[in-house]
Amino acid sequence: MAKIILFGAPGSGKGTLASRIIGVEPNIVHISTGDIFRENISKNTSLGVKAKSFTDKGELVPDEVVIDMVKDRMEKDDVKANGFILDGFPRTLPQAQKLGEFATADAVLLLDVPKDILLKRILGRYSCQKCGQIYNKWLNKPEKENTCDKCGEHIDVIQRADDNEETVKRRIEVYEENSAPIVKFYEGLGMLKRVDSTNTLELSDDEIKTLISPAK
Ligand code: AMP
Repeated sequence: MAKIILFGAPGSGKGTLASRIIGVEPNIVHISTGDIFRENISKNTSLGVKAKSFTDKGELVPDEVVIDMVKDRMEKDDVKANGFILDGFPRTLPQAQKLGEFATADAVLLLDVPKDILLKRILGRYSCQKCGQIYNKWLNKPEKENTCDKCGEHIDVIQRADDNEETVKRRIEVYEENSAPIVKFYEGLGMLKRVDSTNTLELSDDEIKTLISPAK
């Protein structure tokens, strides 16, 4: 059972690496805070209404909202039994410190990608509406046009509301403002592993297993 934190800029490939990890640990629970917000926004829940004004601008949702939401999710039985991939959390030092009070991870994977690739990845990104498989209109199209390689469903190219140039630039800036203290925090705890995330689809399953093994 693995307990993994994925940390990296928008477009660094957290979702793609998460799907590789699920390939070797099918029961692991993938907790993406961005996905939880998008689901709540689409259902117009009170959490969604609270989050939308921030996500629309590429700003962070306030710590107290995100921390409570993650804590609730992490306390569920499936996470206790099968471990977790945290994707998009923590994003601030207080989030990282609080997380340490209710969960321990085996490793924090810091996804490294050259900055020029980040923009191209995000602005071209779309996903299968049925299974969530991620594609890119320039870098990674499905083999058969508009048909998902994974589940065979027809795909409409619909992008995330916040994957537009202005918001993306702000999201990258927000990452740069917050990331250094988080990296230092996990480095200090001996939990950090740097991953070249330019093409994690080319890693073998054994390489993925080594990545998710405890850092120390
Ligand atoms: P993501 O899908 O991870 O890029 O997240 C999309 C948006 O959700 C972000 O731009 C933030 O507005 C919000 N969000 C996701 N995770 C967090 C977090 N840990 N802290 C604050 N805001 C978050």
